[in-house]
Amino acid sequence: MAKPAETDTATRVPAAARTSGKTATKVAPRAERSQAETEKIKVALNERLAELRTEYDATLSEITELQRDRLTDSAGDDQADTGTKTFEREQEISLANTILERVTQVERALERLDEGNYGWCERCGSPIPVERLAAFPSATLCVTCKQLEERR
Ligand SMILES: [Zn+2]
Repeated sequence: MAKPAETDTATRVPAAARTSGKTATKVAPRAERSQAETEKIKVALNERLAELRTEYDATLSEITELQRDRLTDSAGDDQADTGTKTFEREQEISLANTILERVTQVERALERLDEGNYGWCERCGSPIPVERLAAFPSATLCVTCKQLEERR
């Protein structure tokens, strides 16, 4: 029995050859960031995430409590009292939503960090300091560029 000829594969163009020269347009040149620094950012972001989740849980139990209050003693409350409690509850709900938004921001930041697309200034390409990223996980500009932006 004859083996099938394998001439076919030889004529194929390697994948790398087809894509070379067509690299995506880069926004800004990036300075190197050490593995240790990336690790530091990751730790800072994870700490932030844990903080936000604790805050979120606390707000949720606050809402539940206000809700329970409203259900149990609303019969004896006068109108103004009920109004205050409803207002408080609405405040807590909007706070919970704000926290949840920040949780999502930090989660996205961590994803981008894993992909190697996080922590560089979108404008000048220099690395954004770890402290700044820890305080503002959604920061996309370095302090200098941010100040320039605000001045305009
Ligand atoms: Zn910058």
